[in-house]
Amino acid sequence: MRSRSAQELFSGLIPLHILHHAAEQPVYGLWIIEELANHGYRLSAGTLYPLLHRMEQRGLLRSTAQRAGRSTRRVYRITSAGRMALNEARHKVRELFGELFATDLRRVFGGQANRRKRGASRPTRRRERR
Ligand SMILES: [Zn+2]
Repeated sequence: MRSRSAQELFSGLIPLHILHHAAEQPVYGLWIIEELANHGYRLSAGTLYPLLHRMEQRGLLRSTAQRAGRSTRRVYRITSAGRMALNEARHKVRELFGELFATDLRRVFGGQANRRKRGASRPTRRRERR
């Protein structure tokens, strides 16, 4: 059971997650719901579709209707403004990541993680789950 306050913390990660995947390939609602479920986010269509709509209104995504068998589905692609926003967010998340996992990084990189100067090369990112 996830607390309400924790959910509030995660809510900002969801649009970021959507942008990330839309940058890799066109995505659609059900795919996003399943992808986020794999990461432990339970998102209903009633929450997702308004969010996608807002992201499109803000110019981060662009959607088109696409035939899928007998029905059509709305497919979302990232826009160039979306890519810029994603890049900005990446920098911020990297900073935050460094703070949140400073202890882990020190353990892995033997105390180097905290001593590096601003702008110095960053420790290698941990392998992403694929
Ligand atoms: Zn994902």
